[in-house]
Amino acid sequence: MTEQRSFALVTGASRGIGAAIARTLARAGHPVLLNYRSQDELAAQIKSEIERDGGQARLLKFDVRDAAAARKILEPLAQELPIGVVVNNAGIARDASFPSMDWPAWEDVTRTTLDGFFHVTQPLVMPMVRRRSGRIINIASISGVIGNRGQVNYSAAKAGLIGATRSLALELAKRNITVNAVAPGPIETDMLDDAPVDMILKAIPMRRFGTSEEVAALVGFLASEAAGYITGQVISMSGGLG
Ligand code: NDP
Repeated sequence: MTEQRSFALVTGASRGIGAAIARTLARAGHPVLLNYRSQDELAAQIKSEIERDGGQARLLKFDVRDAAAARKILEPLAQELPIGVVVNNAGIARDASFPSMDWPAWEDVTRTTLDGFFHVTQPLVMPMVRRRSGRIINIASISGVIGNRGQVNYSAAKAGLIGATRSLALELAKRNITVNAVAPGPIETDMLDDAPVDMILKAIPMRRFGTSEEVAALVGFLASEAAGYITGQVISMSGGLG
């Protein structure tokens, strides 16, 4: 008999890195809960792809910045389902040099990454503690480790997420719950649409962008049984950048 895998919740799973992570976790046998904010059609397409490949998926549409919406959906769900893997992936960038950065650009980015982490993770932790098992994986960025021009808001948010990762790992280690962060360098997704691609490529020692599938493979490993002794770590995947 095959063991029933716990459910995996991935935020920002309608496209890019989050969609690749959802596919990878589904292939590993986790029924996946696909959170997204706005793009219904894309999210439905990811769900269909997962089901076509023999996996299970459910859509969970809410804005991770919205405390009440997240709690209303996640609290009852965490009672109903064994959610054993949480991937905090939803994130946005609103780049500008600091003197020209306006408050909405600061607030939007920090709220999505940091408040989003709190609103999603906090309701799911106690059920994991009771089960004495869990994996929390936070998608940070190399920008939160080494900084980046034009990304004071984004770097601050991702560095904050890294701090949260390290502290929560210490709190939960005795309960057999691991908490880690992945810090990707530039990855080919919609997020790079308006970025100065040639300039970025020159700065990457490997002279190429990473792929969503490469990030997803690392997340898949961190979510697996084999990674049970890794916690409180920030693992960069950045083609040598940083
Ligand atoms: P994309 O812009 O391709 O996708 C972002 C995803 O997040 C979408 O699914 C979007 O949903 C969702 N999302 C955005 N805001 C919210 C919100 N408030 N609530 C719920 N969902 C939301 O991003 P990437 O795949 O490139 O990035 C994924 C993560 O990886 C982010 O945290 C990013 O910071 C990080 N990262 C990305 C890098 C890159 O170069 N691409 C490098 C380093 C880190 P919807 O489609 O509904 O809008």
